Amino acid sequence: MLVTTAKATHAQTRRHNNRLVLQTVYDQSPLSRADIARATDLTATTVSTVVGELLEEGLVQELGAVSTERGKPPTLISLNKDARHILALDLSRKVFQGSILNLRGEILHRQYSPLQNKNGKDALAVVHKLLRDLCQATTTPLLGIGIGAPGIIDPNNSVIRQAANLGWYNLELGELLTQEYGHNVQVVNDTQAILLAENLFGTYKNSSDMVVIRIGNGIGAAIMCNGQLLHGNGSGVGEIGHVVVVDGGERCTCGNDGCLETIASSRAVIQQAKALAALHPGSALNQLTQDGDPITIETVVEAFRLGDPVVEPLVTRLGYHLGNSIAHLVSVVGTPRILLCGGLTELGKPLFDTIRFETRRRCLTARLTEPEIGIVTLTTNLSDLVVMGAAATLLTNELGLFW
Ligand SMILES: [Zn+2]
Repeated sequence: MLVTTAKATHAQTRRHNNRLVLQTVYDQSPLSRADIARATDLTATTVSTVVGELLEEGLVQELGAVSTERGKPPTLISLNKDARHILALDLSRKVFQGSILNLRGEILHRQYSPLQNKNGKDALAVVHKLLRDLCQATTTPLLGIGIGAPGIIDPNNSVIRQAANLGWYNLELGELLTQEYGHNVQVVNDTQAILLAENLFGTYKNSSDMVVIRIGNGIGAAIMCNGQLLHGNGSGVGEIGHVVVVDGGERCTCGNDGCLETIASSRAVIQQAKALAALHPGSALNQLTQDGDPITIETVVEAFRLGDPVVEPLVTRLGYHLGNSIAHLVSVVGTPRILLCGGLTELGKPLFDTIRFETRRRCLTARLTEPEIGIVTLTTNLSDLVVMGAAATLLTNELGLFW
């Protein structure tokens, strides 16, 4: 028993040292072995052993020596960012995106496959096609496959508990794809993936408390508290889109009436805009669609930029309800930073001013310490953000980075 414990402790220490050195190289490279020892408080011997192992695995590389005034010049170590590649998919939009990324989360290749309203097994076939194409497009050894999917996900078991639009319920996607492709697979909720991408590669790198709210056809929040992503108990977390904000309001896709999604989702805003355009034939909103083009979020944003008075109350109402929901969120998790993403954020400062005003007005926590409410920083291409975040889960689970 004692021997087993000693072995376990030794293995844990090795694993810990390995992660520590790799994370240090990841964050600070290029640096010498002596620099690594200083940064990690590990002995020179331990650092030398671990670096040797990482060199053998190909994860780090020697860049050659730097000249110094005295003594033997130290050799610099850096991350070999192309030692492994990661396949990552975004399944949260009508056109699935598949990408190949390196260990820095840089996207090297993109491929697209339209879902064409498929669901169930047919939607799964689209996933397989994308993965087969991606496998053919890379010759670099793979670290694994990361999937950003909509709905309620059990990230520990990579099971999709519920993705209603795709017709997937209790789908063991991780196990299924691992068996098919022979790689480790991580499945993460799409909004949580966006948060991870922002948190690991964006302006707010290593921020321990933040919320990302995705406003698309649905509205969901990903929440990070004290450096931990909240997963709830498997029944979903951050589902702010399905909290009733208008009693007796419109019927929601979830079966309830008056959820936030019935007012502030892209789908709801487009419906409201259609009704307004029909009522006001002289409005910019209506004029912009004279050629028979359907009203889109871009049309609404354009009409608002042109100062269409018909659109203004719609934007104010949107900000009012989003601010109301964010106030509740801030009251519960007290986060200092809320980042929004989705096409509606293009409505810009007037929308955000209303959101900030309503959040402050309704929430003591926000009045004491005003949260920063802004837009995701890395890119406005949400599919890119989702694949970057999905890839990040592989970096954590397979290499022990960002743990
Ligand atoms: Zn609902």
